[in-house]
Amino acid sequence: SEIALEELPGVGPATAEKLKEAGFNTIEAVAVASPSELATTAEIGESTAAKIINAARQAADIGGFETGDLVLERRKLVGKLTTGCAEFDEMMGGGIETQAITELYGEFGSGKTQVAHQLAVNVQMDKEHGGLGGSVIIIDTENTFRPERITQMVKGLSEKYGMELNPEEFLQNIHVARAYNSNHQILLVDSATDLANELKEMGKPVRLLIVDSLMAHFRAEYVGRGTLADRQQKLNKHMHGLLRFGDLFNACVVVTNQVMAKPDAFFGDPTRPVGGHIVGHTATFRLYLRKSKGEKRIIRLVDSPSLPEGEAVVAVTMAGLTD
Ligand code: ADP
Ligand code: MG
Repeated sequence: SEIALEELPGVGPATAEKLKEAGFNTIEAVAVASPSELATTAEIGESTAAKIINAARQAADIGGFETGDLVLERRKLVGKLTTGCAEFDEMMGGGIETQAITELYGEFGSGKTQVAHQLAVNVQMDKEHGGLGGSVIIIDTENTFRPERITQMVKGLSEKYGMELNPEEFLQNIHVARAYNSNHQILLVDSATDLANELKEMGKPVRLLIVDSLMAHFRAEYVGRGTLADRQQKLNKHMHGLLRFGDLFNACVVVTNQVMAKPDAFFGDPTRPVGGHIVGHTATFRLYLRKSKGEKRIIRLVDSPSLPEGEAVVAVTMAGLTD
């Protein structure tokens, strides 16, 4: 936006500074914030925060209501990122969508991190090859990002398309940060926003944000029922930060999630993703990954606003994710 934060009524230089420090760099970012979130970060009252948000919405032309044709206009910008597997892409209606959170959940070793790595490669390809011509930000909470694996996958794509792709260049477009605890993880979304603004100016727009894994820190830190409400509140803030990122940058947001045993399940699958209703309601697409024979993996689309449930079989090979 051309308008500076300081030009909003009620925002002095000190408040503007606090907002920027918290990652609210633009009018658009303020416009989609919640009053309580803004009040806390900028140390202002909630009613002042609400007034600032309203002013930002008017300035940024983001109203509370939109007509359907405008929603359609924005939806036209939605990009679809290929998974590299025909069946998987088809199940997703073309690929992983931008402006949405896609959750990959499944047991240890089911291939969540492999899919995330493959998407980090694919998104850098041009449209013709199923990519979005963008760069990647990864929030790595389990220290499972492996540049060597990216190199293997780039070589796989070189073979597939008969192109000379340089793994080094692909690695240069992947920005990885380790998250050391859940607070750090939440703050890294703000840093990601700063970085994405810089990269956008450099002509390297971020089209994919990965959080692998979403829940590991939250689970480890919040044990016992007493702190559950607190955990869910922080998780809610985190999920909405991720959604906002996807909207602001027209990026895919991909999060991985663990499963836990469902003690009350007599029928169907005895596992479910962790994170409860907060994650369930905020993730736009939920994908359940299961191991099958050898390198085969079964991916099930469990929840989607507009697509039928379905299953796709993929393979995790040295060259990456394939049919
Ligand atoms: P998680 O769901 O826990 O994130 P991963 O995505 O890390 O699981 O999947 C690990 C599995 O991926 C390994 O058990 C192996 O089957 C497969 N895998 C990892 N690297 C390779 C590779 N270079 N070639 C073939 N398969 C691989
Ligand atoms: Mg993993």
